[in-house]
Amino acid sequence: MTDSHFIPRMAFTGAKLDHVEDKRDILTLKTYLKNPKARALMLINGKPAVTKEGHLKTCHPDDLVGQNIIAPGPMFLGLDDEGPVFAFALTDDQSMTAESEFQEMRAIASWLDQPSLAVAGRAKSLFDWHYSHRFCSTCGKESQSTAGGMYRHCKSCETDHFPRVNPVAIMLVIHEDHCLMGRSPGWPDKAFSALAGFISPGESLEEGCAREVKEEVNVDVHSVKYVFSQPWPFPSQLMMGITCQTDSRDFKVNKKELDDAQWFSKETVQNVFSGSDDSFLRPPGFTIANQLLRYWLAE
Ligand SMILES: [Zn+2]
Repeated sequence: MTDSHFIPRMAFTGAKLDHVEDKRDILTLKTYLKNPKARALMLINGKPAVTKEGHLKTCHPDDLVGQNIIAPGPMFLGLDDEGPVFAFALTDDQSMTAESEFQEMRAIASWLDQPSLAVAGRAKSLFDWHYSHRFCSTCGKESQSTAGGMYRHCKSCETDHFPRVNPVAIMLVIHEDHCLMGRSPGWPDKAFSALAGFISPGESLEEGCAREVKEEVNVDVHSVKYVFSQPWPFPSQLMMGITCQTDSRDFKVNKKELDDAQWFSKETVQNVFSGSDDSFLRPPGFTIANQLLRYWLAE
């Protein structure tokens, strides 16, 4: 097998933001907020504002004065080529929505330009983390968003809490020119995708991959190979794309985990991607599973 020269088009990456983690004191953040080139994204319940023309909607932070802004207040996402970028979470009774719509991240993921989607995804993941980590896990008191939302600080016990990213192994199980994919309960008809699961404390990416495949389809894998990764803002996973090999096409679906699993030949996958075969519904283009299949086809 030769190495692929496939270049992934990975949704939620490519933000081109300098997070400026070393200079986020209150004075600096105030200067950024007043910078004439500062831009603010707006989100309601994790849904970013987009324009009718199909762009991420931004305004100057000053334009949001008087709007109902939800804690943790302005989140400083970082600096890009144009200037400081902030995100604001708004209540869902805003009057400023006439020229824009707040849309589900999954809905805009298929058409929004890649850098904008990455910025919106970063904002959503950070807000989701702040919402679910209001209280200190050490002493139980309410903590405060600090350094423009980079972390939370508990004044009661002086503990800092940093946003959490959850690692997930997502893997294409391969035997010769076939790959094994599964479908979860509730998925649309014919929808199949790469197997996936959270990495557990105490295991490596390779061990997590092997365990998940064993649990879901009772298949032993080897030659686990990391390919590429994707930040996934639902709410904050790091999807780590993997290929792995097995020596047999025997499998047994664990019905507690999956509805079904099936081997697909490279030819079938190729034809599904080119639209001449509908043996399965391919994973959406903004998913790493889609990119992993394309990588395998190009191999
Ligand atoms: Zn505390």
